[in-house]
Order: sequence, then structure tokens, then C-alpha cells
Amino acid sequence: MKKLIQNLIYPRRCVFCGEFLDKNSNEDICAACVDKLPWTKNKCKSKGEFFSECLSPLFYEGSAGEALRRFKFMGKSSYARLMGKLIADCVQENGKGGYEVITWVPISARRMRKRGYCQAKLLAREASKTLGIPCARLIRKRRHTPPQSTVSGLAARKANVSGAFCAVGKSGIAGRSVLLIDDVITTGATLSECTRILRMAGARNVSCATLCKATKK
Ligand SMILES: [Zn+2]
Repeated sequence: MKKLIQNLIYPRRCVFCGEFLDKNSNEDICAACVDKLPWTKNKCKSKGEFFSECLSPLFYEGSAGEALRRFKFMGKSSYARLMGKLIADCVQENGKGGYEVITWVPISARRMRKRGYCQAKLLAREASKTLGIPCARLIRKRRHTPPQSTVSGLAARKANVSGAFCAVGKSGIAGRSVLLIDDVITTGATLSECTRILRMAGARNVSCATLCKATKK
């Protein structure tokens, strides 16, 4: 009954195209988008400096890129439910497995005050539910940095995030296999820096997963 009333007041819409969804649909995506979104398929893996794999179900383009920008910059935090599940499905199908804890790339306190939520944390929580792996805060952002999207080139991006993060709760990191979640991978500079922090705190392995990847390789 509660669900019926919710559907009458707030009809559910597809996260990617905005189409109204069948009220019995369990996911926030329409059949047309399942068909035509820019899925990475056999190109879902990216490489980085310290992490062993990074898995992303979608390319950062078209309606996938637009939905990610609404999720991140326009308050659409409810998208996390579907997006986190898409990440989890991709990890389950293509990842090497054995992950013991899930964590995320944090945002700075200043960005948190402005945005009101940490998008990667919401994705990590949802992925954690689907994968049945506990989610814990293992990294803190200790200084504010300009968005990576405003910095060009790998070297400059690496410098931008160098030393910007630190490990928290080291007892939860040492000896463990960590799955690190973010919204998008571009050059991999941010994920590499966070992986370095986790490794220095004793993580046995770090794998990454994001909703989108920017490169077509
Ligand atoms: Zn759709």
C-alpha cells in the first residue's frame, strides 16, 4: 500500500532518460535504456598505477554521462540505488572476487557542505547491499582540491591529489582485500592515490569500481 501511494505521488522514472516506469518494475531503468546505453561490456576493465583492476559498467558519454552529472551536481542522490547496483553487477560478473571490505573515494568537508552528500559513498553503500560485503569508511580527504575535471594532463592531476587523502581506521585495512568505489575513472590519478594510501596502511589488495569510464580503451 505504501508503495502504491508512493507511485501515485512520485511516479518512478528511468534514471537515464526520465521515462515513466511500470509501477511493478523493481529497478529505476527502462527497457530501452537497458538496450541502448553505452555499456562497456568486454572493455569494462581499466588499468592504473597501484590498483589491480578497475571495473566500470558504462562509458562516460551520452545519457550515461548526463545522468552521472545530475547525480553528482544536481541533487539526484536517489540515483544511487540503481547506479550502485549496476556497479555491483559489473564487479560480480567481471571482477576477480575475494573482496572483504568496500570503501569509497571521499570528498572534502567543504564540498560536502555544498553538495550535502558524498556521491561515491552512496554508490558504495548500494553496491555493498548487492554484493553482501561490508562497507566502511577507510579514507578521509584532508584538504580541498580543485575538481580533477578542471585539471588537464595526468601529471597535473596526480599533483592535484597528491597527499590529499589519509587512511582512517587502519585496523580495518591491514591484511584485507579492498574494493574502492568512485563515480568515474578518467586518468585514474585519484583512484591511484587512494589505492596508494590503502596499500601504505597495509591493504593486501585493492580493486576499484566506478559507474563510468571516460576512455574508450
Ligand atoms: Zn530509460
